Amino acid sequence: MQRALEKHLIELKNCRLCPNVVGPVVTQGPVVSKVYLIGQAPGPREGFFGRPFAWTAGKTLFKWFSSIGLNEEEFRRRVYMAAVCRCFPGKAKAGGDRVPTPTEVKTCASWMEQEVKLLKPKLVIPVGRLAIEQVLPQAPLTETIGVQFDKVFFGHSCHVIPLPHPSGASTWFKREPGKSLLLKALQIISRHPAWQELDPRSTCDLRKIKLLDSADEP
Ligand code: SF4
Repeated sequence: MQRALEKHLIELKNCRLCPNVVGPVVTQGPVVSKVYLIGQAPGPREGFFGRPFAWTAGKTLFKWFSSIGLNEEEFRRRVYMAAVCRCFPGKAKAGGDRVPTPTEVKTCASWMEQEVKLLKPKLVIPVGRLAIEQVLPQAPLTETIGVQFDKVFFGHSCHVIPLPHPSGASTWFKREPGKSLLLKALQIISRHPAWQELDPRSTCDLRKIKLLDSADEP
């Protein structure tokens, strides 16, 4: 499977199917894992670093995962990191990053489908609304965060535990009920057999999440 995944990543990195994205294609390494994370789309800096969640939102995300036993380095080595759109879409005219178009999302989903069929993940963690809506029907975050769903995803049965987007611009996970729902979601992930198989270092220490403060955000 390792070789098939390496071949897949070479093909993915050469993808130029969407003419309006800025790129480049941002991927993590060929990590054979039963835990599959789905981000939204890389920002303007991820291409330079050549890996997903390489900037401020990533700092917050990896603090969340550190609190349940895997620091950033361990997480990147043990979890496959995908995204709805693998290329930076560019800036929106009104400011901020452009949201990928439905056509770009659909086009890029073919890469996700290949990965799910190859890896057969037991646990899928979509991060942020755009990612969550690729896996689950549209619903308020209060109904999707802190819940484990049984899902058939590209023909494969798995559990889905969504997380909110860790963007510094988001206040959802810093206020109630988002704060408690985030803790609940992390707790459910930490107890999931596929997460336990990753051999997290410590037991769940959700107190670490309290380290999040405005100083960590852009
Ligand atoms: S967004 Fe996805 S489908 Fe489009 S060019 Fe990038 S990798 Fe290819």
